[in-house]
Amino acid sequence: MKDMFIESLKNLFKKPATHQYPFEPSPPPPNYRGNIVYKKELCIFCTKCELVCPPGAIRFTYNEDGSREFHYNPYLCIYCGECVRACPKAGCLIQVEEMAPPATEEEIPNWDEIEKEAEESKKRWLKARKKPQAKKS
Ligand code: SF4
Ligand code: SF4
Repeated sequence: MKDMFIESLKNLFKKPATHQYPFEPSPPPPNYRGNIVYKKELCIFCTKCELVCPPGAIRFTYNEDGSREFHYNPYLCIYCGECVRACPKAGCLIQVEEMAPPATEEEIPNWDEIEKEAEESKKRWLKARKKPQAKKS
């Protein structure tokens, strides 16, 4: 009885183990793998990240001048970290501890359009790069 009383008294002054979610955000567990952050200035556009991404959450579109644009879909990402491991440039892709925030339908990237443009612009770019065949005499 005495022990129980002491334990109850101690618990009165302890910080609660639970969080007042959604008023207080739940802290992520240590080393939690969340969203991907991309730094264009470090990118060498090798597209390794695009190739290794299991759900296809990274796509590059190609501009007429040969430059590329990075696209990331945080709602498709499974936070596996494969892109970070594959990237040869340290710090170009960083995995932060935050998850993608809840978004309305209008805020979610039109991924079908981006994927279509990625395929088509890559084909256009490859075609433009092909050297003209030397004429046979
Ligand atoms: S963390 Fe995984 S799923 Fe997300 S973009 Fe990188 S490779 Fe793709
Ligand atoms: S793997 Fe890294 S350097 Fe290569 S395209 Fe992706 S982000 Fe850029």
